[in-house]
Amino acid sequence: MTDVTTPLPVDATTRIRRESERQVTERAALHAVLDEALVAHVGVVRDGLPLVLPFACARDGDTLLLHGSTGSGLMRLAAGEPVCVTVTHLDGLVYARTTFDSSMRYRSAVVHGTAEVVPPEEKERALTVLSDHLFCDRTAEVRASTVKELAATMVLRVSLERASVKVAAGPPEVDPDDVEPRSVWAGILPLSTVAGEPQPSPDVRDGVDVPPSVRRAADRLNAGGAPAPAR
Ligand SMILES: Cc1cc2nc3c(=O)[nH]c(=O)nc-3n(C[C@H](O)[C@H](O)[C@H](O)COP(=O)(O)OP(=O)(O)OC[C@H]3O[C@@H](n4cnc5c(N)ncnc54)[C@H](O)[C@@H]3O)c2cc1C
Repeated sequence: MTDVTTPLPVDATTRIRRESERQVTERAALHAVLDEALVAHVGVVRDGLPLVLPFACARDGDTLLLHGSTGSGLMRLAAGEPVCVTVTHLDGLVYARTTFDSSMRYRSAVVHGTAEVVPPEEKERALTVLSDHLFCDRTAEVRASTVKELAATMVLRVSLERASVKVAAGPPEVDPDDVEPRSVWAGILPLSTVAGEPQPSPDVRDGVDVPPSVRRAADRLNAGGAPAPAR
């Protein structure tokens, strides 16, 4: 297990060249970006062409977990192969005084690694980690997965050893030579993911309350975090 105090490597693959001051090398920053994520975009090469698909994700120590049907094309293709996994949090739109300078505020992470198939004896635990991250400890409220369900699911893990983090924050850039700065509004429109009111399925009996996992997920999302912190 990589020590969390070990900085992320900055090398030919992971070095951010443009706006390099936005590269963050603390491993804790990588964990924070991943722990807030529900979705990661997974990139592979299929038949010589790039393919990037969204997947649910959860951090498990110093690996990132992905799961899907054993019939999923990308899951089967990625197993044992190099992948590039990206997570993005869009924190705001930057309205600068020119469209050239307008941009976005974000935190993003790119993980480079090999997607390793989680062996059968570790699969149930990995799926619990995923479910409890995505659905805020839901596994305590529902039945355990069946042998058939476990067999139908493939879990991949990607080491977080080689990853990069980029954080764009702060006010818009100002070019004092362009227009008189204060005569045109500039600033940030903050963006975030929020939870709405829970909508029970039509077949839920009267008197069955919204469970704690749903309440916790909504509260955490509305407070600016992911439904549940990963392990
Ligand atoms: C929401 C969002 C919108 C963006 N929109 C634009 C845009 O419209 N135009 C634009 O030019 N750029 C945009 N970027 C930035 C873009 O992702 C790259 O960071 C940028 O193109 C500079 O790449 P580079 O040439 O320095 O690195 P590259 O040579 O392209 O990449 C080298 C390595 O740097 C790391 N890396 C690069 N970018 C990131 C990143 N964002 N997060 C984490 N690691 C990274 C990876 O490990 C990669 O392998 C956006 C980023 C985000 C998150």
